[in-house]
Amino acid sequence: MGTFSRPLNHTDVGILGPRSNSARKYSRGKSINLVFRRCSVGILSGAVASIALTASLRYGLWSLLLGISIGVAYSITAPPGRRAYADNLMAAGALGIPLWGLISVVAIPLLSRQMPEWSAEQMRQHFPALVGWVVYGALLGIIKQGMDDIAEHFFGADSPPETPAVSIKKRIVILGGGFAGMRTAECLERRLRGDFSTGITLVNETNALLFTPMLAEVAGSSLEPSHISTPLRTTLRRTEFIRGVVAEVDLGRRLVILRGDEATSGASARRHVPYDHLVFALGSTSNYLGMTNLEKFAFNFKTLLDAIRIRNRVIEMFERADRESDPNLRSALLTFVIAGGGFAGVEVAGALNDFAHGILADYPNLSSHDLNIILVHSRERILPELSESLATFAQEKMQSRGVSFRLSTRILDAHHGAVLLSDGKIQTRTLVWTAGSTPSPFLKSLPFEKDRRGALLVDGSLAVPGHPGLWAIGDCAAIIDAATGQPCPPTAQFALREAEVLADNILAQIRGRPSRTFHFNSLGALCVVGHQTACAELNVPFARRKTLRFSGLFAWLLWRGIYLAKLPGLERKIRVLMDWTIELFFPRDIVQTIDVS
Ligand SMILES: Cc1cc2nc3c(=O)[nH]c(=O)nc-3n(C[C@H](O)[C@H](O)[C@H](O)COP(=O)(O)OP(=O)(O)OC[C@H]3O[C@@H](n4cnc5c(N)ncnc54)[C@H](O)[C@@H]3O)c2cc1C
Repeated sequence: MGTFSRPLNHTDVGILGPRSNSARKYSRGKSINLVFRRCSVGILSGAVASIALTASLRYGLWSLLLGISIGVAYSITAPPGRRAYADNLMAAGALGIPLWGLISVVAIPLLSRQMPEWSAEQMRQHFPALVGWVVYGALLGIIKQGMDDIAEHFFGADSPPETPAVSIKKRIVILGGGFAGMRTAECLERRLRGDFSTGITLVNETNALLFTPMLAEVAGSSLEPSHISTPLRTTLRRTEFIRGVVAEVDLGRRLVILRGDEATSGASARRHVPYDHLVFALGSTSNYLGMTNLEKFAFNFKTLLDAIRIRNRVIEMFERADRESDPNLRSALLTFVIAGGGFAGVEVAGALNDFAHGILADYPNLSSHDLNIILVHSRERILPELSESLATFAQEKMQSRGVSFRLSTRILDAHHGAVLLSDGKIQTRTLVWTAGSTPSPFLKSLPFEKDRRGALLVDGSLAVPGHPGLWAIGDCAAIIDAATGQPCPPTAQFALREAEVLADNILAQIRGRPSRTFHFNSLGALCVVGHQTACAELNVPFARRKTLRFSGLFAWLLWRGIYLAKLPGLERKIRVLMDWTIELFFPRDIVQTIDVS
């Protein structure tokens, strides 16, 4: 395709900063090998911070070596940013929690030939180590930042200043700004540092990445909705972001056509986005298997708006039930049915159960006997992704807290305030659907081969076969793992790794190098089942038993630590931490924010 010119504009200069000064400094800095510099910063900051580990773990030399190794890994993977003290303090401090879980609770007992235990008593014994790890992380973050600043002062910038070229020779367009799309853009930005001959554009229908693992907490009123969404414009530095809905792809002219904005420019004003490489990362939507009544009646559970609607619906039902004198009607209003016993269904059932019981105190006319949270699942047991013992634990725990289960039961239809099941009927005004999902319906318009779910078939390098320059990843792609020959599951964990391989392969193709195939070993799975309880199944490569299974408070702490560390952006991390802290001391918020009556 042709060459696209992009004039240097005011924003480019603003983002990249003054060129000449940093370029001069960088040329001085070139004399110091980059890896050596980051390793040195990591060794020094890890060594100083390991004082906290030595004090809490009691393994003197080992604590020092551990502290240094983690310091080096952190310094290499977290690129220096100028005076980002708070950012590093939070990120490395939060990292202390999963490190505590993996090293103090799991690895150290295993290395001492003991099985890890997570009884309340054991957890109490591990508590000083938790404090030690968090302090170590916080110290590591601050000291590393200080050393990065000192190194920059004496040796110049760590990485080459980004010098914008005026002529774009290749244009990579990414459709979808979820986990897969955003990580692809991030990886491309990193790998194209200093090379402006390739342009990156990301198109998404919302202007933020939704952190779906925390969506159930929004539905359960634990987290503020915007706190789990990261703005794409601010996170991506050199990628051109377009908020728009993809309406069509003109494969012949290599153009993406966006839906026109009728309100401002008329339906005909469709924007055309040219591409040389096009990435489909459009995710998935709820699938009602052709049951149109259900589609009209049920609440989806995929987007931020879905979670906001569900939260408001629960409050609306409480308000109506509070003034309802007919006990049958009151019971129907306070019956919440969740379809699907996978991760999303279990997490939302647990969150709604906590929420509903938590706000009962605000409704003096209602009692817990009026409440029904029912999970309907077509198979014999919930959480088929986890082992049977963990699924049984999850079910028993939830039952003891008031959730009922209708297993081996299908939802067939819904009407007149009732849900029809394969073995009966439930009077309810609220059904949340998590029982099926399907790759983005937009893919139907594309003349490519798909699997039976409708996901785009790709080859081992994540390319659409027979269509050079077209790629697909994430939930909308059917990907076979190159090493195991197994289909990759539609999870964020896989989408993120696929994006990294994809970014490499696109650049390899542009530069005429061979591409690599996709392989990833799942790290495991974590599922929150309600109040301070989770189930975890982790694949630990160094353990004799490859899979570690545990549940309860420790798994829940690990869940929070890992996902807080993974949530993009310091500001979001702080907001979520504050929400979690507020939740410890105050009742859940029952203010209605939208009308869902
Ligand atoms: C409630 C819930 C909890 C989950 N928890 C976990 C978890 O704990 N761990 C885990 O690994 N996975 C989890 N997942 C799965 C995970 O969210 C998905 O696998 C992941 O989001 C897939 O990433 P993606 O980029 O392919 O799709 P998405 O993240 O869905 O992104 C697709 C993007 O494309 C946009 N888009 C779609 N159509 C168009 C269009 N026509 N024009 C413009 N933009 C469009 C969408 O708005 C969206 O932003 C969870 C999912 C849900 C729903």
